[in-house]
Amino acid sequence: MKKQIIVLPGDGVGREVMESAKLVLQAVASEFGHRFVFHEHLIGGAAIDACGTPLPQETVDACMQADAVLLGAVGGPQWDNHPSGQRPEAGLLSIRKTLGLFANLRPVKGFASLLDASPLKKEVVEGSDMLIIRELTGGIYFGQPSERTNDGNAVVDTLYYERTEMERIIDKAFQSALTRKKRLTSVDKANVLESSRMWREIVKEKQKQYPDVKVDHVLVDAAAMKLITQPDQFDVIVTENMFGDILSDEASVLTGSLGMLPSASIRTDGVGMYEPVHGSAPDIAGKGIANPFGMILSAAMMLRHSFGLEQEAKDIEDAVDTVLEQGYRTPDLAGAGERVVGTKEITDRLIDNM
Ligand code: ATP
Ligand code: MG
Repeated sequence: MKKQIIVLPGDGVGREVMESAKLVLQAVASEFGHRFVFHEHLIGGAAIDACGTPLPQETVDACMQADAVLLGAVGGPQWDNHPSGQRPEAGLLSIRKTLGLFANLRPVKGFASLLDASPLKKEVVEGSDMLIIRELTGGIYFGQPSERTNDGNAVVDTLYYERTEMERIIDKAFQSALTRKKRLTSVDKANVLESSRMWREIVKEKQKQYPDVKVDHVLVDAAAMKLITQPDQFDVIVTENMFGDILSDEASVLTGSLGMLPSASIRTDGVGMYEPVHGSAPDIAGKGIANPFGMILSAAMMLRHSFGLEQEAKDIEDAVDTVLEQGYRTPDLAGAGERVVGTKEITDRLIDNM
């Protein structure tokens, strides 16, 4: 199989973990006889520096024609209050919107060998394995108006969703539940928000098409609590943009480090974008110690979701398990008596195990 992959390393540790993902993909390619061609383009702060905009048109055009897109991370203190007025994060919001990537898939798994790395009790984290599905291109992050009014003495943000935007993400969640434990938790705030009442109605309508999926409705505040008290109760969680943003960061504590978590941003047909959940981690950028697993596991999601390469994806995921079991850790995961190594070495050990 030959695939054209757009690589957007972005800023900070994004560049470092992307190198690891490319090495792993090359190893997969030679093992299974595929050809992955990487094309690197600019996004975020690096793009502001080179072209004065966080999302050059050339990058958009390349992504539109690609088989899949890999993204590292964007942002960093050097672009806060940049004289150009440009923000790296705007490039990220804009590429997701432009490519129509309405579904953000974030698997969260408590790795058996990392139970000690979580601040939560072992008994709580053990056995947790969920998929959080977040709506990504609508809701309060995009609604207009979003501005100061009344001479700066009042403010408005707008939560706007079309019925079809809710239907497609909820449908995606039911389909995903079918491939897992067939349990779907819909998270909303239906006791307060009209948007949540419409969301809940749509979930109930869709449920008729998926009689095998067991559905429950949980208010977002209760969900936030349950996520860290009874995480093993969840299989697939589906929710709107802002709730999903918050809950998925919260869920990251189950794995012990933000650096472990992958994500996929996809649409019904067409190109998907794969990126780690973490940001550019300016505090450790350039030191060669970033945890590359979130990025590498994102590449595995790309193989599965965009290319249908299930076995190849599984090989990468198994190798991550093995390396952790062998005791290798980047510093963010390190505990007593383990073998603390940098980004490059842990990547090499992973490839040895594939
Ligand atoms: P963003 O605004 O892009 O979400 P953020 O400031 O919320 O960024 P990160 O940049 O992800 O979050 O950093 C949060 C913390 O997690 C930092 O201390 C950072 O060093 C750590 N971290 C993030 N990614 C990794 C990684 N891959 N390996 C090790 N530590 C990481
Ligand atoms: Mg953040």
